[in-house]
Amino acid sequence: MIAKEINENLQNGSWIRKMFEEGEKLIEKFGAESVFDFSLGNPREEPPCIVTNTLKNLATEPPQGMHRYMSNAGYMETRKAVASVISDEISRDFPSENVVMTNGAAGGLNVALKSILDPGDEVIIFAPFFVEYMFYIRNSQGIPVVCKTDPEDFQPDPGKLADALSEKTKAVIINSPNNPTGVVYAEKTLKSLADVLSVHEETAGSPIYVISDEPYKKIVYENILAPEIMNIFKNSLIVNSYSKSLGLAGERIGYVAVNTEINESEKLLNALIFCQRTLGFVNAPALAQRLVQATAGESVNVTGYKINRDLLYNVLTDSGFSCVKPQGAFYLFPKTPGEEAEFIQTALKHNLLFVPGRGFGCPGHFRISYCVDEQMIKRSIPVIKKLAAEYF
Ligand code: PLP
Repeated sequence: MIAKEINENLQNGSWIRKMFEEGEKLIEKFGAESVFDFSLGNPREEPPCIVTNTLKNLATEPPQGMHRYMSNAGYMETRKAVASVISDEISRDFPSENVVMTNGAAGGLNVALKSILDPGDEVIIFAPFFVEYMFYIRNSQGIPVVCKTDPEDFQPDPGKLADALSEKTKAVIINSPNNPTGVVYAEKTLKSLADVLSVHEETAGSPIYVISDEPYKKIVYENILAPEIMNIFKNSLIVNSYSKSLGLAGERIGYVAVNTEINESEKLLNALIFCQRTLGFVNAPALAQRLVQATAGESVNVTGYKINRDLLYNVLTDSGFSCVKPQGAFYLFPKTPGEEAEFIQTALKHNLLFVPGRGFGCPGHFRISYCVDEQMIKRSIPVIKKLAAEYF
């Protein structure tokens, strides 16, 4: 028999998975051209040419021992390349020793949580959130504590954070640009959160780690820059990946970077390296690390994502939906007109697949993932208008 907790999770199922299965059925019935699947967040943009060229060079002139084990923290040359990008971003020298290469952000989050959590420790997450956080926290026997953001702009609320803190709080996860809202958390708001945490840390006498999950950091529009978390929160760990920024989601490559200002940061780094090994990852994939070494500062072209965002944002708001305009990532998170489950079902009748907001801890909304073919969006526009006409 499988574990009870896993069994319960399987029974509940994932909303994204459920919608995917619905989509398969609809495609069989109506054909792919007539089904509009906005449920999956699979990065669409191809990696920049430099990634493909580096891959070709590695194949034709492989460095000696390219496929062997390495240090659990990853290749020093790759950690140096990552640290150099971070140094530019935070405008101060960042040491390569403080970077641990991981298997994507998902691997990095699990390694970070395993390194800091004792059973029963609480981790605050801001709703709406990436649903996997719940599982990652529980993987390390932690307890997720959900803190709502402002319903009008999805910015975190320092007062609500203060209320959510307890003597058991060990960490806070921040995700900006955010999945599912696309919102970039404002610097002013983040500074207020830092003040709240400092007060609590002082009384508690122990750090609260801010784990900043940043896989969408480079997917931003209109020259918006996501604030530098390490310059705002002393006790911060950055978790990032190249899944979206380089379009390498399948290659499972990312990192955890530990703020130099953390007391005993060396101990924390040793813990991360230990957990990278003992969670069974051993080390981040060798080939992908070589790619990152050559391309860490590069990014996919976000023009296609922006075109998609604008097409969908305009049709939604013009036809009556209420929606915060995303500044980054590739999702929209409008309010559902009427009851959420009923709306998702009505959308399905139009062959439109959205994920309900309750899947992100925020009912009364639906997520549209726009990392899809632009032509599909264009075909969906009259259908979205028809759906809207049922409500507005
Ligand atoms: N965090 C967020 C907010 C995500 O949306 C995702 C993937 O969609 C991840 C982490 C995991 O990304 P990775 O492919 O880097 O593991």
